[in-house]
Amino acid sequence: MESIVIIGNGVAGVTAARHIRKISNKRITIISAESDHFFSRTALMYVYMGHMKFEHLKPYEDWFWEKNRIELIRGFVRKVDDKNKELFIEDDRVIKYDKLILATGSKPNKFGWPGQDLKGVQGLYSKQDLDLLETNAPNKKICKRAVIVGGGLIGIELAEMLRSRDIPVTFLVREKSFWDVVLPDGDSGMINEHILEHHIDLRLETNLVEILADGYGRVKAVITDKGETVECQMVGLTPGVSPNISFLKDSGIELGRGIKVNRFLETNIKDIYAIGDCAEQSEPIGNRRPIEAVWYTGRMMGETVAQTICETRTEYKPGHWFNSAKFLDIEYQTYGWVFSSNGKKEYEEHFHWRHALEKICLTIAFHKETRKFLGINTFGIRMRHEIFDEWLNKGQNVSHVIKYLKDANFDPEFYTKYENEIAAKFNADFDTDIKPEKKNWKRIFAIG
Ligand SMILES: Cc1cc2nc3c(=O)[nH]c(=O)nc-3n(C[C@H](O)[C@H](O)[C@H](O)COP(=O)(O)OP(=O)(O)OC[C@H]3O[C@@H](n4cnc5c(N)ncnc54)[C@H](O)[C@@H]3O)c2cc1C
Repeated sequence: MESIVIIGNGVAGVTAARHIRKISNKRITIISAESDHFFSRTALMYVYMGHMKFEHLKPYEDWFWEKNRIELIRGFVRKVDDKNKELFIEDDRVIKYDKLILATGSKPNKFGWPGQDLKGVQGLYSKQDLDLLETNAPNKKICKRAVIVGGGLIGIELAEMLRSRDIPVTFLVREKSFWDVVLPDGDSGMINEHILEHHIDLRLETNLVEILADGYGRVKAVITDKGETVECQMVGLTPGVSPNISFLKDSGIELGRGIKVNRFLETNIKDIYAIGDCAEQSEPIGNRRPIEAVWYTGRMMGETVAQTICETRTEYKPGHWFNSAKFLDIEYQTYGWVFSSNGKKEYEEHFHWRHALEKICLTIAFHKETRKFLGINTFGIRMRHEIFDEWLNKGQNVSHVIKYLKDANFDPEFYTKYENEIAAKFNADFDTDIKPEKKNWKRIFAIG
C-alpha cells in the first residue's frame, strides 16, 4: 500500500491527511514536533486570556486519528533523504515514504538583536511559546512591564493578551503608523488611536537596538533607537514569521525563502509536495505574495494536494484574496485588493469613510478610469464574503457597490447601519448621486 508521510500537524498537514483519507485507503502518517494533536493556532491567545482551555483548541477528539487510520508520530524530522525516500527523526528513527508532504509552517523572526536569547525574551507562535508566556508574564507583579517589538497581527494580539492581565505594555513599531505596509493611512490611523485608548504605550517609528540583561541572564530593559531605555521583565518579539525549512538545507529540495512549489504544490523533487506557510509559489498568483502565511490558504492547499495525490492532478486556485483579523475589539475584514497608501497601484483610487464618533471605518479601492471595484477593507462592520466574491467575479463598478452595500451588511436588522452615511460621503467625494438600495441577497444568488 502506498505510504504518504506528512511533516507538520498544523491546518495544512491535517487537512491534507483528512482529505486523502476521504478519497483513498493509502497509509497516512503525520510526524510533528510541537504537539501530539492538531490545535487551532489562531485561538492560542484565548487560552492566556482565560476564555478557553488548551484542550478546547483541538478541533478533533483524540480518538479521531486512530479511527481514521491516521498514524501520529511526535518527533522532529532533522533530515530528508530524497534519493532513498527516507526521513530521519531526531531520536534516530528512520521512516520510509512513497510520497512526502512538507507542511512545516513558520517560525518567528529574530533579527540578531543583542540580547534576543535572554530569559524573558520570546516570540508567540507555538504551544511552547504560550507556556513560556505563563512563566514570563503570569501577572503584573512578576511582569511590571512588557515590551513588544514588531507591529503586525501577532504583535497586537500579544499586546491584547498582556493587557487582559493588566500588564503595562510598550509597543515598538518600526513604521510611521500601525501596519501601514498593508493598511491605507485612514484605516491604520484609526487603529493607532484605538491602541492608545487601550492604554498601550505605542511608539511609532521606533526600533529595538538592544535587550539588556540583569545579573542572572534575564531581560531587565530594552534600548531603542530613540536613545530611550525602557525597563521591562518580558520582551515579545513579533516582527513577522518565516518558513520553517532549515532542516531541508542539505536535501535536494529547491528552497527560496520557503520551499519552492509550482501551481500544483509540487517541489522540484518527484513525489515531494509543500503546503501551508512553508510553501513558496515560484510564480506568485496574481497580487498574492509568494508565501501566504494565513490559515485558510493552508487549508485550501491541503485540500488541493490531497486531490493531486489521490485522484486528479489539481492546480491550487485560491480565488479572490480575503482575510480577517481583530485589532483589540475591532473586527477587520478585507476582500479583493486594497493596497496601503504607500503601495497603492497607479490605477488605484481609494474611498475612505469613518464614523464620526465610533471606531468604525472602511476603505474601498476601485480603478481610477474604469471605476471597477477592486476591494474593500472594513473595520467594525461585518460584511458578507459571498457578496463581495460575486461583485469581484462580475467586475461590478464602485457605484454598484455603494448603491447595494446594504446587501453586503452581515449585521442583524437591529444593528445600526451606516450605508446612507457612506453613500453621502462617496457622493460628496466623487461628485455622484448614488441612492442606496437593498436587494434580497438570497435572490441575487438565485438569479446568479
Ligand atoms: C498567534 C497567531 C495568531 C494567528 N492568527 C491568525 C488569524 O487570525 N488568521 C489567519 O489567517 N492566520 C493566523 N495566524 C497564522 C496561521 O496560524 C498560520 O498561517 C497557520 O497556522 C499555518 O499552518 P501550517 O499548517 O502551514 O503550519 P503550522 O501551524 O505552523 O504547523 C506546522 C507544524 O509543523 C511542525 N514542524 C515544523 N518543522 C518540523 C520538523 N522538521 N519536524 C517535525 N515537525 C515540524 C511545527 O512544530 C508545527 O507544529 C496566526 C498565527 C499565530 C502564531
